Amino acid sequence: MRFFSFIPHRHRWQDIVISRANAIAPSGRTYYSTLISARCRTCNQTLYRIYYSDISDAQARRWLG
Ligand SMILES: [Zn+2]
Repeated sequence: MRFFSFIPHRHRWQDIVISRANAIAPSGRTYYSTLISARCRTCNQTLYRIYYSDISDAQARRWLG
């Protein structure tokens, strides 16, 4: 599936994992955070995102695009 990574496309995220834990922001403060990981079905790219706030699963999925 590597071939497709060279073609611009809208990532299609699958294997979406949403979890929540305390995380230290770049500012040094600790926030109860939402951690999201997902893998694109087309190019196999893995995405990790941390939001330094507690957001709902629905919001997290929306932020993936
Ligand atoms: Zn992709």
